Order: sequence, then structure tokens, then C-alpha cells
Amino acid sequence: MNTHIDLDAITEQTWPDEFLHGQDVMVRVLRLDKIHPLVSGNKWFKLRYYLDDAIRLGKKKIITWGGPWSNHLLATAAACRQNGIACIGLVRGEEPITYAETLMQAMELGMELKFIPRSDYRDETIPPELTSLENYFIPAGGYGEKGVAGAASILDHCNKENYTHISCAIGTGTMMAGLLSAALPGQQLIGISVLKNEPEPEERIKALVPHVMELGRFIYDFHFGGYARYTPGLLNFMNRFYKAAAIPTDFVYTGKLFFAINELLQYSYFPPGTNLLVIHSGGLQGNRSLNKGTLIF
Ligand SMILES: *Cc1c(COP(=O)(O)O)cnc(C)c1O
Repeated sequence: MNTHIDLDAITEQTWPDEFLHGQDVMVRVLRLDKIHPLVSGNKWFKLRYYLDDAIRLGKKKIITWGGPWSNHLLATAAACRQNGIACIGLVRGEEPITYAETLMQAMELGMELKFIPRSDYRDETIPPELTSLENYFIPAGGYGEKGVAGAASILDHCNKENYTHISCAIGTGTMMAGLLSAALPGQQLIGISVLKNEPEPEERIKALVPHVMELGRFIYDFHFGGYARYTPGLLNFMNRFYKAAAIPTDFVYTGKLFFAINELLQYSYFPPGTNLLVIHSGGLQGNRSLNKGTLIF
């Protein structure tokens, strides 16, 4: 697999008219999904400074945690391959008989996989055989200071001064923390949680960037039942949106984000004159877990 990350491919694409609902709002989509077909947009940004640090410290191996469909594991595998550094993925749960496609791809990129009990996964316990000082550990989802700094650099790839509002999906909250830290005074950041976990994201983000929390708004109404859960209505929206805008979304993160933005527009959430930037954070490989033919893209 080609692991080249093409930052020049990032564009600010106009939101389709038919999804504006007549609102006096300008909406653009920041296409981070275009930097690589598999290595999800925001994951590469969150990893970049951890990688730099590991290389600077002369570490021999990168080790991190993820679930069987983790965009983070796949992005880590690709980034390590690109930098010629070995890596291990600590995967939540028992070793399955057949691996999810994400894990297959991570392995093809040279990542070694170890399956760990759910409780060890939750606590990010370091397996005793991996405590060597030559190993470098990256928290799950890149959650931490370097992940925040990396996510902050997302806004170097758009004309951020053009926008009054920025919106993104929230998983661990690392990306939103980074965007908050890079936002301009007066800009508002709207996070859409894709998990059923109110108000956990606020606490997690506050722990990272307490000084800029007043720029953030948190919306918990669009988790569709929880992480990686979905409804026919969500998939139908993703197909309709693709038809109108030729922008593919994923059902775990960006599908829910775009659905939420569409609803907020429909219910006149944004004041007239709003200029909104919606972050397309990638993650399209996750759609491979759906039955073929469910999505039209
Ligand atoms: C991981 C991920 C997110 C969430 O990012 P966090 O920093 O964990 O909040 C959003 N979108 C996509 C596509 C992702 O893969």
C-alpha cells in the first residue's frame, strides 16, 4: 500500500444547496478524507507529533491501543511504515477467528497485533513483556498533549479566518481539543458526540485545554444508539448527501456529524450570516464493515 500522505489534496468544498434548507448560512466541508484513501484524515494529524517524538528519542517500536475496527490502529500502522519504525497494536478483546479488514490492513502494513482483555484495554495497561525503554506508547486515539497539538495543525490547511463556526465529530475529544486550541477569538466550536456518553467529552476535553472551553458547544443528540450504531435513516442520509455533493461519509463519525449539521440547519440553529466549517475527518475505511450495497459509494 502506498503510505504517502497528500496534504495538498485537502480542499474546502461547498455544502450542497438542497441541504441548506434556505438558511442564510455559508457552509464548507474541510476534506481531510482526501489525504489518503485508507489512512483516515484526523488520525494522521493526531499522530504526527508522537511519531516525531519517538523518532527524536531513538525509540525502536511504537505501541498503541485500538478496537478491531480502529482507524487509529490503521493510521498508526501506515505512519510507522512510512517512517520505517516497527509497531505493535494492542487490540481490545479476544483474538477472533477471522480478523476484521482494518486489522488485516494494519498487519499488511507491518503492524504486529496482540489481543488483550477488555479491562486491560480500558486501563491502557502496558503488558509486562513490553515495558522496554525502547518502546514508545501512544494513548488510544492519540488522546494527550501531542495529539492536541497535531489536531490543532488541521486548521493550518484552511482559511480559518473565514469562519464564525467550526464543527467536528467527537470520539476521544482529542481532535476537538486541538481545534479549540487553534481557534480564533470569537469563533465557536460545535462538537457532535458519536457516543452515548454525555457529558464525558466535556470533561475529557477540559482536561486537555481548560483555557479555551468557553469556545466549545457540545451536542449529544446524534449518537444513533451509541458508538458504531446506526439506523436505516442515517445510511439513507449518507447516500442522499453523496448523491448531492459527491462527498462520501462514514457511519461511525462523519455520517453522524453531517446528519447533525443538516438537522441544525433545518431547525435554524445558526444565526443568519454564519460561516460554518465542517471537518470531514476521514474514517471511510470503517464503511467496509457494512454489507456490500448498503451505501452507493
Ligand atoms: C477518530 C475519529 C474521530 C474522532 O476523533 P477524536 O479525536 O477521537 O475525538 C472523528 N472522525 C473520524 C473519521 C475518526 O476516525
